[in-house]
Amino acid sequence: MLETLKKEEIKVLYSEETLASRVKELAGEISEYYKDLDNLIVVGVLKGSFIFTADLVRDLKVPCQLEFIKLSSYEDGTESSGKIKAVDLSLPALHGKDVLVVEDIVDSGRTAKFLKDYFEQQVEVKSCKIAALFDKPCRRLEEFKIVHADFTGFEIEDHFIVGYGLDFAQKFRELPYVGVIEIS
Ligand code: 5GP
Ligand code: MG
Repeated sequence: MLETLKKEEIKVLYSEETLASRVKELAGEISEYYKDLDNLIVVGVLKGSFIFTADLVRDLKVPCQLEFIKLSSYEDGTESSGKIKAVDLSLPALHGKDVLVVEDIVDSGRTAKFLKDYFEQQVEVKSCKIAALFDKPCRRLEEFKIVHADFTGFEIEDHFIVGYGLDFAQKFRELPYVGVIEIS
């Protein structure tokens, strides 16, 4: 069923207009927070945050340097072990810099925790904040309870969403709106 899902069958949760206005607000909050900085580093997490990152940086009132990072899970057999590694690290030296990580969605909290630890402890940035367009607090695992995004667009229920960069099996990223897929 889900393999043949058409975009017409996806229920819209946030329209293009709603997303644009919330992203603008968020950019305002972020610009206010970083107002005294002239060298903010924005790191988009591929692939899910590519549209959010592109829209967000265009609404920021502070200058920024844009970078991207890609993550992957270590697989053991067919099951994901839940461990994450940073790949495709064409990142320049960000030691001592102020970094804003831009994520599509925080779910279990595992990715956000990894990113925070990675930038703070391995890269040793000056500061690391996370902006996530979506957060599903009800899905947070106990061990990642302390993890939170510093700037959040929308808190959502336990839905699987697609569009505006987010995929289902690499599909639907191009939708300009966000919709819900029923995965039972
Ligand atoms: P976490 O590590 O917090 O469990 O998961 C974060 C990642 O899982 C996100 O960056 C995203 O790639 C994926 N993810 C979690 N929830 C959703 C969802 O509702 N829709 C989509 N498309 N991806 C999700
Ligand atoms: Mg992601």
